[in-house]
Amino acid sequence: PELMYIKRKCIACKTCVANCPSGAITFEGKQLILNRKLCSSCGVCAEMCPTGAIKLVGKQMSTEEILKELNKDILFFNQSQGGVTVSGGEPLMQVEFLKELLERLKHLKVHTAVDTCGYAERKSFELILPYVDLFLYDLKIVDDAKHKKYTGVSNEKIRENLEFLLQSEKSVLIRVPIVPAINDSEEDIEDLMDYLEHIGIKSNIHLLPFHNISEKYDMLGKKFKLTGELRASYEKISFIESKMKANGFHVKIGG
Ligand code: SF4
Ligand code: SF4
Repeated sequence: PELMYIKRKCIACKTCVANCPSGAITFEGKQLILNRKLCSSCGVCAEMCPTGAIKLVGKQMSTEEILKELNKDILFFNQSQGGVTVSGGEPLMQVEFLKELLERLKHLKVHTAVDTCGYAERKSFELILPYVDLFLYDLKIVDDAKHKKYTGVSNEKIRENLEFLLQSEKSVLIRVPIVPAINDSEEDIEDLMDYLEHIGIKSNIHLLPFHNISEKYDMLGKKFKLTGELRASYEKISFIESKMKANGFHVKIGG
């Protein structure tokens, strides 16, 4: 669990400062300063805050606890063709836990999906492969130099893992988050179509308006590196959709 601070709700009453057992909260003028290194995530400040400006979010759970939570829905899944999608963050960062959870879900005959950015070791994918029905696979930027520029890493591993999953005959839904001035140019879309064609993909492609999570990062005291207008207009995404359809791709917006 970690603390989320919502500045606009804070009335600077300093109740949290007075009650924090670790001295992790101070004020500089009207500005609350949270020292996350000192914070033990005890949650006292969140309990005492009169306005809900400070909250403890996230919860550590065992596989057993998750399955207990899901238990009441599993019967319903079987009737409604529903299932469980594991997303993140990046779920493959905790691959042993993920494998155990997916294995248990498959044992209960629950449909399983994993939402991944693809940046993980091949052996991690091999480990979970038998227990996954559907991969929701993010494909951000095809050009490797550009991918490195915006994400800090090469996309080689991401492409190799995608090609591995496609060969495995598991269902793969490719999701392309469209971000203005980063991956929405004519050249970017040409690169995307060329690559998809090269790996034999003509369908199961979703274009996603980028979900701006910078405010959430701010609340969690993390730095969100992308700046500027991040949400593509509906017109732009529709234009990309039409272009891809005109080139024989079965593509849809959202999902
Ligand atoms: S969660 Fe506990 S340790 Fe962390 S800031 Fe709040 S009161 Fe202090
Ligand atoms: S208790 Fe809540 S409202 Fe008061 S200073 Fe702390 S975060 Fe702000």
